[in-house]
Amino acid sequence: MPFDPSDLPGARRDPVPPNDPVEQLVVLLARIPGLGRRSARRAALKMLQEPQRLMLPLSRALDAAAEAVGPCRVCGNLDATDPCHVCRDPRRERGLVCVVEGVSDLWALERGGAHRGLYHVLGGTLSALGGVGPEDLSIAPLVERVASGEVQEVILALPATVEGATTGHYLADRLRPLEVPVTRLAQGVPMGGALDVLDDGTLAAALRARRPA
Ligand SMILES: [Zn+2]
Repeated sequence: MPFDPSDLPGARRDPVPPNDPVEQLVVLLARIPGLGRRSARRAALKMLQEPQRLMLPLSRALDAAAEAVGPCRVCGNLDATDPCHVCRDPRRERGLVCVVEGVSDLWALERGGAHRGLYHVLGGTLSALGGVGPEDLSIAPLVERVASGEVQEVILALPATVEGATTGHYLADRLRPLEVPVTRLAQGVPMGGALDVLDDGTLAAALRARRPA
């Protein structure tokens, strides 16, 4: 695939032109992660060529999702119900809470079916350089959740990055007084690796072989 500079993070964001529906579509599609302008233009063309099969069903699905989907007040997952379907599932081990950086990690763990407990989405990782402090993440609600007494183990499934490790240490310190075991994923998550790019088997193995944080 040829290089497209608008795929780069921080690439210039084009304004949406007011009176050109085709260009509006391209500009908006190009803002979706992974879609640069070139891919956006191809996607727009395909939809315009097949409005009944592609464009109108997509438009309805977007409307429906925008209307119905929002964050779960318990775990931070995105779902059409609140609490989300994971939090409401009576077969889940409610004492086992897996802490993830983002919803994409939660979805990756769910895809493989490796985790039978609940989740807590932090909404990022601590970053001194990026100016992300504990109050910017869903840390106080996690501490509150653990302090409520229902949680028996906290599994830290954070990315294998400096920020992920820093966040893990910070959380282990914050949770220590509550005397609930805090574990982390075993090695097997490659350094720098995000969870949602791992295959399901690797993720399941890392979860099974977790150890004290
Ligand atoms: Zn939930």
